[in-house]
Amino acid sequence: MLQGRVVKVYNEWYRVAVVGDRMLECKPRGRLRKGQTPLPGDRAMVEELADGTGVICEILPRRNLLLRPAMTNVDQVLIIQTWQSPAMNLSLLDRMLALAEWENVRPYIVLNKSDLYAEAEEHVRAAIQRWRQDYQQVGYDVFEVSSKTGDGIEPLKRLLEGKVTVMAGPSGVGKSSLLNHLLPQAGQRIGELSEKIRRGKHTTRHVELIRAGEGDSWLADSPGFSRLSVDSIDKQQLDTCFPEIRQESEHCRFRSCLHEHEPDCAVMRAVDEERIRRSRYEHYLEFLSEIRRSEENRY
Ligand code: GDP
Ligand code: ZN
Repeated sequence: MLQGRVVKVYNEWYRVAVVGDRMLECKPRGRLRKGQTPLPGDRAMVEELADGTGVICEILPRRNLLLRPAMTNVDQVLIIQTWQSPAMNLSLLDRMLALAEWENVRPYIVLNKSDLYAEAEEHVRAAIQRWRQDYQQVGYDVFEVSSKTGDGIEPLKRLLEGKVTVMAGPSGVGKSSLLNHLLPQAGQRIGELSEKIRRGKHTTRHVELIRAGEGDSWLADSPGFSRLSVDSIDKQQLDTCFPEIRQESEHCRFRSCLHEHEPDCAVMRAVDEERIRRSRYEHYLEFLSEIRRSEENRY
C-alpha cells in the first residue's frame, strides 16, 4: 500500500502522485465509503496493480473541502490584488480573507503590479503603506510583487514549499501571469486552459494540482474561491473570521454580542479608538446583513 496525493480527476480516472515523484493512474475501489468521491488534493492510500495502474483504497481525513472549484486539503490561498488597474477592492479582499478563515485555509495577501506604483506619487505610496501596515497588524503577510518584472516572486515560490496552494482574486489582477512565473514548466498550458474557461467551455473541468517544488508542494492550475457568498458562515461565528474583531470580542459584555448596537461592545469601542480599521468593521457588518438575508430567505 502506498500513500499519495490525488492531483487530477478526469474521465473517472484519478492521477495520484506517490513517493519517488511517480504518478499512478487510479480507479477507486468499488467499496469506498459512500459519498467519498476522490477530489484533487485528497490524500489517499493506493494499491499498485500488475498492469501499472492503481486502486484507491481509502481517502484519508480531509482538512477542508472547497467548492467551485472542488478541491480538498488546501493549506493556503494567495489572494491576489492590485492597487490600480484594477483599483483595490477592499470589500472583496475582506470577503476572501473571511472565507479563507472560515474554510481553515491560511490566507496571504499578494499585491501585484508593483512596477506600476513603484514610481507613483508620494500620496499613493503613503496610502499603500498605511493599507499594508493595517493588514499586517491584523496578522496577514503582504507580498508586493510584479509578474511583469519578476520582482518579489522568489519569496512567493518559497511559500509554496510543502503546501497545497490556490490563488484567488478578481479578474485582471494578474493571476494567470503569476501562475506562469510560479510554474514556468506548465505555463503555456495554463494560459490555454484559462482562456477556455473564460470562454465558458469545460465548465465542469476539475482543478489540476501542478507540482510547485520539491516533495509534496502543489499549486492549483486555476483560481479557487470563485463562489464568494458568505452564506455558509454562521452569523454568530462571523467575528471569528476577522482576527482583530475576534480578539476584541472577548471583552464584549455579552457572549452573543454581534457588535452592532449592543451595550458595552468592545469591538465598537476599538473601532472608535482606531484600533480596528473602520473599513474592516464596515465589511463585517455588510457580511452580517448578507448572512441574515440569506437566512430569512431559507425559511
Ligand atoms: P487574471 O485575469 O487575474 O488572470 O490577470 P492576467 O494575468 O490575465 O493579467 C491581466 C493584465 O494585467 C494583462 O494585460 C497582464 O499583462 C497585466 N499584468 C499582469 N501582471 C502585471 C504586472 O505585474 N505589472 C503590470 N504592469 N501588468 C501586469
Ligand atoms: Zn461586541
